[in-house]
Amino acid sequence: MTEAMLQVSNLETYYGPIMAICGVSLEVRQGEIVAVLGANGAGKTTLLKTISGALNCRKGDVLLEGKAIQNRDPNWVAAQGLAHVPEGREVFPFLSVRDNLMLGAYRRSDGDTISADLETMYRYFPALKENAGKLAGYLSGGQQQMLAIARGYMSRPRLMVLDEPSLGLSPVLVQSIFHIIRRLNEEEGLTILLVEQNAAVALETSRRAYVMEVGGIVMDGPSAELARSDDIKEFYLGQK
Ligand code: ATP
Repeated sequence: MTEAMLQVSNLETYYGPIMAICGVSLEVRQGEIVAVLGANGAGKTTLLKTISGALNCRKGDVLLEGKAIQNRDPNWVAAQGLAHVPEGREVFPFLSVRDNLMLGAYRRSDGDTISADLETMYRYFPALKENAGKLAGYLSGGQQQMLAIARGYMSRPRLMVLDEPSLGLSPVLVQSIFHIIRRLNEEEGLTILLVEQNAAVALETSRRAYVMEVGGIVMDGPSAELARSDDIKEFYLGQK
């Protein structure tokens, strides 16, 4: 049995009196890519923010490699090996691409390895190398998404959680970003949890997936099986 990298149990998160996450349980095993699918407003962002400490939960547990991380400071959670790549990228527009990347590594003191990791990211994302001295705000949407992922990698996480990496990107860019996400998983050994409205690409990329509706998980299973399910085809893949 492969060890659980992330174990979420019976999670409940509220905005004031409104319950946005209603008893969610899920697991990500070491080496997996796991997707959470769901329409706008299903609670995907709230779920990721609760996992990474940006929001507190009222009930439930979040275990990273067996250690409880719920309701802790997001910086502390990041230091435990979890990188959160937020929706909308949130790069620092007035800093250079290189400085954005170095900020991802600010907790680290292993100078040589940091330089090697920077080169690794430039190899995966040549556009970032070409624009290393440019202000991040001048990058295209796709390049900013690449920067957000590469900055997450620079903290050397064992688990990366990605919020809607396809958001606002053209189909060609979506394919190339997801190709790199797969390579980071296969070649760099990164375990990945991603939430997506783009069910087709999320199911193609992940090993297993969960489907969220109004704050709860309504379906889960191997991604290849979910992609063949009639409900998923009709409601998430737009096929009859
Ligand atoms: P999207 O893809 O649009 O980000 P989502 O699946 O990530 O959707 P969430 O953003 O997690 O969904 O939102 C879940 C629910 O919580 C929605 O009903 C939303 O309106 C509500 N919500 C989100 N943020 C807040 C907030 N700051 N205050 C109150 N309600 C919120």
